[in-house]
Amino acid sequence: MSLRRFATVARGKYPLGDRIHGFVVRRALDVPEFSLTAVDLVHERTGASHLHIDRQDKNNVFSMVFKTNPPDSTGLPHILEHTTLCGSEKYPVRDPFFKMLNRSLANFMNAMTGHDYTFYPFATTNPTDFYNLMDVYLDATLNPLLSEEDFYQEGWRLEHEDTQDRASPLCFKGVVYNEMKGQMSDSGYWFWIKFQEAIYPSLNNSGGDPAKITNLVYEDLVDFHARYYHPSNAATFTYGSLPLERHLARINEKYARFGRRQRRQDVKQPIELRSNTSLSVAGPVDPLLPLERQYKGSLTWYCGRPDDVYETFVMRLVSNLLIDGHSSPLYQELVETGLGTDFSINSGMDSMTDVNMLSIGLQGMSEETAAKLPGTVRDAVQRAKTAGFAREKIDAMIHQLELGRKVESASFGLNLLSSLVPGWVNRVDPLEMLKWDNVIGRFRQEYAKQGDAMFTDRINEYILDAPYFHYTMFPDAGLEKQISGEEQRRLEKKIATLDESDKEVLYKRGLKLLENQSKQEDLSCLPTLSTADISRDGDSVRLKLKNTGATELQTRVSSKTNGLTYFRSLKTVSSSELPLELVKYLPLFTDCLTNLGTKNKSMAQLEDEIKLYTGGISPTVFSHSSPDDMNTAYLKFGLNGVALNGNFERLLDLSYQLLAETDFDNHDKLSVLVKTLTSDNISAIVSNGHSYARGYSAAQLSKSAKLQQLLGGIEQVSFLNELRELDEQNRLGEVSTALKRIQSILLGGSNFKFAVTTDRANVSTQEKLVARYGEQFQLRHAVSAYEMEMQQAAQDRVVEIAAQVSFAAAVASGSSYTCEDGPALQILAQLSTFKHLHSEVREKGGAYGGGATYDALNGIFAYYSFRDPNPARSIETFARSMGKIVDMIENEQITPEDLGQAKLSIFQNIDAPVSVRSEGATHFNYDVDDDMKQARRESLLDCDLHRAAIVGRKYFPTRLSNTIIGADPGVDWTKVSLGSRE
Ligand SMILES: [Zn+2]
Repeated sequence: MSLRRFATVARGKYPLGDRIHGFVVRRALDVPEFSLTAVDLVHERTGASHLHIDRQDKNNVFSMVFKTNPPDSTGLPHILEHTTLCGSEKYPVRDPFFKMLNRSLANFMNAMTGHDYTFYPFATTNPTDFYNLMDVYLDATLNPLLSEEDFYQEGWRLEHEDTQDRASPLCFKGVVYNEMKGQMSDSGYWFWIKFQEAIYPSLNNSGGDPAKITNLVYEDLVDFHARYYHPSNAATFTYGSLPLERHLARINEKYARFGRRQRRQDVKQPIELRSNTSLSVAGPVDPLLPLERQYKGSLTWYCGRPDDVYETFVMRLVSNLLIDGHSSPLYQELVETGLGTDFSINSGMDSMTDVNMLSIGLQGMSEETAAKLPGTVRDAVQRAKTAGFAREKIDAMIHQLELGRKVESASFGLNLLSSLVPGWVNRVDPLEMLKWDNVIGRFRQEYAKQGDAMFTDRINEYILDAPYFHYTMFPDAGLEKQISGEEQRRLEKKIATLDESDKEVLYKRGLKLLENQSKQEDLSCLPTLSTADISRDGDSVRLKLKNTGATELQTRVSSKTNGLTYFRSLKTVSSSELPLELVKYLPLFTDCLTNLGTKNKSMAQLEDEIKLYTGGISPTVFSHSSPDDMNTAYLKFGLNGVALNGNFERLLDLSYQLLAETDFDNHDKLSVLVKTLTSDNISAIVSNGHSYARGYSAAQLSKSAKLQQLLGGIEQVSFLNELRELDEQNRLGEVSTALKRIQSILLGGSNFKFAVTTDRANVSTQEKLVARYGEQFQLRHAVSAYEMEMQQAAQDRVVEIAAQVSFAAAVASGSSYTCEDGPALQILAQLSTFKHLHSEVREKGGAYGGGATYDALNGIFAYYSFRDPNPARSIETFARSMGKIVDMIENEQITPEDLGQAKLSIFQNIDAPVSVRSEGATHFNYDVDDDMKQARRESLLDCDLHRAAIVGRKYFPTRLSNTIIGADPGVDWTKVSLGSRE
C-alpha cells in the first residue's frame, strides 16, 4: 500500500531522536495526500520549536514566529513588528526588508501582526536568496537596534505639521499611528475590531487603537522585545525542497547567544458566556447609503476549542450548511427576504486563540430588524434543523473540499503557514492539522453511521441550547466628529504638559528624523543577488493552438493537474456589438450569472449542482491594450471553471446554462444582488484608494484604462449608486432590459475562443467536448478592437469622500508592450520608488505607502501615495520626480548597482512561480506570447542607465494626469462627488 511506503520515508529520512545542529527530531509525519513530510523539532538549549515541511516544491518558504499577547491597546506588538525592521546588529540599515526587495528574487516578503502572534515570512525559488533573506530575518527579529528614533518614526511622536517650521502647529505623526487611523476609517474593520474587543477583551487590539497608541513609551517597546522575541518564545518554519540540515545550521548559529527561558505560552480567554449577552456600539455612517438601513449585528456562539481539530472541522461544515451560498437556509431566510443586504463580515466559523466561534449576522438592517435579530436568527436555525440537510448537500461539500485539495497553488507553502500559525502559537498541534485524510475519513465513517444527527445534535448543543453574544453596531453620524474631537483634546493635553525646553527637544527631534531620512546609508552590509542570478531565458509553456477559422482552441497538456481539467472561454467584444453605455453594466451582468438562477432552475439548485460537479465557475470581464499598440483597446468577457476530469462535460453544460439561460427578469433576486453590491463601496475605496486614484487618472489617457475605469473604478462606484436608486424606485425593469441586451450580444457567437488544461490521457476527450460546446454558439472569428472617442486635455480632479485619509496619483502615458521604451520605463518606475519616492512620500511625507508603478501591457506610468496625510505635497513631489531621477542618473548618484537592483525587483514578479491553472493564461487573455515575453525580458536585462535617462526625458515632462481621493486637500481642481444623501 502506498501509505506504508510513505510512512517509511519519514522514518528513514528523519529518524526520531536524531540530533541535527542543536535540534532534536521529536516527530515526523508523512502526509501523502499533500505529498509532504512534516518534521517537528525542538532546539535543545533554548526550547525553540522548528517545523519543517519537506515537499518537492522549489518555492521555498521561511518564517520566524513569535507568540505576542498584546498587554494593552497601544499597538505594542504591531509597532515592534515595524521597528525590528529599522536595522539590526549585523545589518544596521533602516528598513532592511524594503532594501532587500531589490537585492532578492523573493516572490513574497512580509511581516504580520495577528491577535496574539507576530510572524515574518518570505518565499523564494533561489537557494542563495533563501539563505540571504533568512539571515536578515533572523537578525532583524533577534538582534534589532530598536533605537529611540525608530520608535518615534514608526510608532508615534509630536511634531510640527511642517517639520521645519516652528510656527506651524504640533500634531501627532508616526507610521503605525497613521496606518491605524486609516484602518479605523474603514467601516468593515471598525465593525470587526469593536466586535473582537467586546468578545475577547483579553486579546486587546494588537494593531493599536489610535486613541491609545499615544500612551506608549519607548521603554515599553524595548522591554516587550526582550521578553517576547526570544528563541524560547519563538518558532521557525521552513517549507520546500531545500535540505533541512542546512536550515538548522543557520538557525542554531543565530541562537548561539541565547539560553533557555520559561516559555510564555499564555493562552488568553474570551468573555464568559453564561447567559445571553448583548452589546451595542456606535459605528461610522456611510454617506452613500440610507441612514435608516445602516444597522449591523450578529449572534455568536462558542463551539468547542481549536485544539480539537476534528470537532473544529465538523463545526466548519455546520457553518457552511447554514450560511454558505444561495442554497443555504439562512441565506434564503435572512438575505433573500431583504432583512439585511448581506451577512455581516464576522459571519461563519472563526477559530480565535482558545475558542471556536460561530457567528451569524447581517448588515444593512433597519433599527427594528436589528433589535429582533436574536429571535429571527434562532428561529431560522431551528427551521433549518427541522428541515434537515440532504445527502447531496453533504456530498457537494465534501466534493468541494476534495477538489480544493487537488487545485495546486503556486503559494502552497505560504498558505499552509498562514493556516497553521494562529493555532500553532496557541497549543494546537500543527501535525494534527495536517492529517487531512484522517479527518475526512473519520467524518465519512461517522456520517455513514449517524447521518443528519451529526449536524442537528451539534446545532442543538452549540446553538439552540446555548447562550449567545448579541452584538449590534448602530450608525452614528456624530462619530467622525467625536473621533477627531478626541484626538484634538488628547493633543492639547499632551501639548499643555510641555514647557519651552520640551518644545525645543521636539523641534530638534523632528529635524533630526528628517535629516536621518535624507542621509545616504552604506548598504554594503546587506547580502545581495546580482542580475547574473536572473536567467536570460524565461520559462516557456508549451501550448497547442488550433484555429478552425471560426474559433481558436488553446490546449495545455500538463502532468501536474491532479486529475482536474481547467477550462477558459473568452469573447472579445467590439464597440459595434456592445455600445459604450452598456460597458458599466458588465460587472453586474457577470454577478447575475452566479446569483439569479435560470427560468428552469433556482440559483439554489444551480449552485448545488455547481458544487457537486465542479470546482466553481467564474465569469470575468476585463480590458487591455494591444501588445503592439497602446491606442488599441480590447474588451473581453470570459467564463472559467475547473472540474474533475470525469465531470468536465457537466462543467461545460453548467457554464452554458449560466450564460444562455440566466433569468434577468428575476427582479427579486436582482434587487437582493444590487443591495449586496452597493452595501460597502466606501470601504472598498478606503482600503484600496491608491488604485482607484491611479485608474481614475489613467482613464483620461488611454482607452483601455477608460474601459477598466467603467468596469471597476470610480465610475463603476457611481454607477452602483445609480443602480441603488433605481432599485429603491422599483425601476429594475430598465436594468433587466440592458442585461438581456448584453446576454444576446454575448450569445451572438463572434470572437469566442477556448482553452483547456488537462493531462495527456484526457486531452482528446476534453478537446472534443469543447468543440461540441462551441457548436452551441454560431462561432465567427473576426477580432476587433473597442473604439471610442477620447477627450483632448486631461483634468486634475479631487474625488471627495468622507474619510480621515487620502490617496494621490499622477499618471503619464508610456509605450506599448512590444515597444523597446517600455522596459526602460518599468526600470524608471522602480528607480523612482527606491531612490526618490520612498523617502519623500513615505518617510518625509508620512504616507503609509508611495511609489511608482509601470503597467507594461497598458503602457501606464503611475505615481501613487497610500493613506497620505499630505496628498497635495505628494502631487508636487510626483511632478518633479522624473526630472530628479534623470539628474541623479547623470550625476552618477544612481549607479549601475542601483540599476541591477531595479531589475531584480522587476524579475521577482516576472519569475514568480505560476500554478498549473494559470499556465498559458497571458497568451490566452492578452495575446502576449512567449516570444514577446522573451524579447521584453532581454530588453529589460540589456537596458542601461544611459538608455533609461534618454527614455525618461522622452516621456517626461509630459503633463501628468492627477487625482486625489479623500477629504478636501485645498487644491483648485475639479471636484467630483460620489453623491451623498444629505
Ligand atoms: Zn503596520
